[in-house]
Amino acid sequence: MSGLYIHIPFCKNKCIYCNFYSIVYRKQSATEYINILKKQLSNLNQNFSTIYIGGGTPTILDFLELKALLYSLRKFIKNANEITIEANPESLNVDKVKLFIDEGVNRISIGAQSFNDKKLERLGRMHSSYQAKTAISLCKKYGFKNINIDLIFGVFGETYPIWKKDLLEVIKLAPSHVSIYMLTYEKNTPLYKQLQKKLILQMDEELVVKMYKFAINFLEKNGFCQYEISNFAKRNYFCQHNINYWENNPYTGLGPSAFSYNDGVRAKNISCLKEYIEKVKKNENFIAFSEKLKPIRRAKETASLKIRTIEGIDFDWFYKKTGFDFLVLEKEALRMLIKNRLIRYRICNDPAKNKLKVGICLTKKGLLFSDTVSAALL
Ligand code: SF4
Repeated sequence: MSGLYIHIPFCKNKCIYCNFYSIVYRKQSATEYINILKKQLSNLNQNFSTIYIGGGTPTILDFLELKALLYSLRKFIKNANEITIEANPESLNVDKVKLFIDEGVNRISIGAQSFNDKKLERLGRMHSSYQAKTAISLCKKYGFKNINIDLIFGVFGETYPIWKKDLLEVIKLAPSHVSIYMLTYEKNTPLYKQLQKKLILQMDEELVVKMYKFAINFLEKNGFCQYEISNFAKRNYFCQHNINYWENNPYTGLGPSAFSYNDGVRAKNISCLKEYIEKVKKNENFIAFSEKLKPIRRAKETASLKIRTIEGIDFDWFYKKTGFDFLVLEKEALRMLIKNRLIRYRICNDPAKNKLKVGICLTKKGLLFSDTVSAALL
């Protein structure tokens, strides 16, 4: 399993809570960037099981730019199982959706975030709830079977009924996958500054927890299986690209700010489009930093990532993957996490091997403190 990630660093404007690397779309920069990607893709000679075009906002690219990008991805698309593109409702149209389907994109992830116009406005989103619903219907109409809807909760000014209504709307739209994210206040964002200046009030923590718990129960009652702390899907629609990431498998990232992980080396590309383009043009190094991880560090990272999944860590799987005995490697962390009821032992039947699978997974309390658990295992 190996993934390819392509970062499209353009947006219509910047949402106040966002700390991903993206800049406002300009035709000239986009054309230049697509040419750079074409060059990089033509030099890549390997197969990927998953491809993920993310951002930024990939659909802010115009039809011809998207077409050029997808043409240069053809040799990879034909060998991949899952090809995802992220889309924002305001920049999706019939021609783009048809192009995606024709070029073999088989999964679309729509940044709806909410179906409440006031909540969308507060987040600085550029679309209305009507546009989000229309975009989802369009994807269905033209043949997308695998559709993810992204939602945000815990937004200042949001109420419990607004969140319930968002989830209800999602069920009505019947996607195959739902991702829910709690709003975080990242440093260097306008939102963080507003919070510092006390212009907005952070939502009560208990209410946010109540919202998360409600979402888990509600989505499960409506046929979605929670397979990771933020991700829910219908059977056979788990996101393979993200599973690859949580299993600490290799991936290659193209574009400014993208990460790669190959042969135990973690690397991050320069977070500046202009510099990135210049470096690639001159065949210079565009990596901002890289680190060769020692086997023990790789094993701990695997533990820290895989614990986010609901199935957790199977000890046999972990040993085969890393060469380390989980119970020995994580002895101290395990003791603390079990004492605090953040993880529990998990024993289940493995019918394929006719034996018991033994491992650990997050408890219900652990789901709420998954960052603490991941950090403890690192
Ligand atoms: S559209 Fe997405 S990537 Fe762009 S600014 Fe908003 S949250 Fe960030």
